[in-house]
Amino acid sequence: MIELHCAECGGFVTELRYVSYRPAPNGTVAAPLTRGLCACVPPIVFGPPPGYMSSPGFPIPGRSSV
Ligand SMILES: [Zn+2]
Repeated sequence: MIELHCAECGGFVTELRYVSYRPAPNGTVAAPLTRGLCACVPPIVFGPPPGYMSSPGFPIPGRSSV
């Protein structure tokens, strides 16, 4: 069971299918983890989606080099 916490509010994400995965911007610190439930729409999680590591070479959607 994977536990995900929202980077926006630090709340526990229950609806994994709605999660928006994003690469963590440099210098950005995720919100402190809380025991509350995330109510963001969509929940924001920094990092590649599950299974990314098993698909080497697969580009991260939305990633852009600045
Ligand atoms: Zn949230």
